[in-house]
Amino acid sequence: MRIEDIDPPRCQDGASDHILRTLDAFGMHWDGSICYQSQQQQSYLHALAQLQQQDLLYPCICSRSQLQAKTIYPGNCRDQFTPSEQASAWRIKVPNMELGFEDLILPAYEENLAQQVGDFILQRKDGLFAYQLAVVVDDAQQGITHIIRGADLYQQTPRQVFLQKCLTLPTPSYGHIPLIINDTGQKLSKQNLAQAISASQGPLLMSQALQRLGQNLPGELMGAPVAEQLAWSIGAWERKNVPAFYQDPVPFLQSPLP
Ligand SMILES: [Zn+2]
Repeated sequence: MRIEDIDPPRCQDGASDHILRTLDAFGMHWDGSICYQSQQQQSYLHALAQLQQQDLLYPCICSRSQLQAKTIYPGNCRDQFTPSEQASAWRIKVPNMELGFEDLILPAYEENLAQQVGDFILQRKDGLFAYQLAVVVDDAQQGITHIIRGADLYQQTPRQVFLQKCLTLPTPSYGHIPLIINDTGQKLSKQNLAQAISASQGPLLMSQALQRLGQNLPGELMGAPVAEQLAWSIGAWERKNVPAFYQDPVPFLQSPLP
């Protein structure tokens, strides 16, 4: 279990407790202690130091306005050796070669990080660590072998695979599932002000989630207690039925709540 509270200004007090209680109410339990990214600074600094030793990092002082509209970092600061007094972000030098991974649900994906992404940020100017670095360090530390997550992260995976190679960490198996989106096409998240789910919605939402994931939940289990639905799905799970949507996420259907 990990709470990805890496961005303290955006984390609301009490939000993580609510998430944990909700997961519990939905019949999802975890082993081991909870990893809070906000308490992982030392591990992230250690990873940065390892990359620094390999001469893979450099400070970047580009302003947002200098980079605006550029989706691929042009490498302005890459060969600037003069140390700067200015606050700087830290970027990693990416190789000019194809790097890919197999996905459990979507097709294999590869890309050339230098041509398609550019040297990316591992630590921001304000000191916050980038998601890419944090998850790679945490996945290894928590011994994660399989990562099933939203397809919005599919194309970010080669960056993580690259960091795993640089840090000599194992690469987990990845599987990307469709997002549930609202009727304007945004994913349901607190950023988009989606409502929190409550324990009382558990049975119905569990049935809907299983159906959206392509599982043939028997009619008599529709809306049954979550523990019963989960017990059934563990036995009957058909990975090949999980929709392989990337460009076209499954549209969100309004739940017929009582
Ligand atoms: Zn720069």
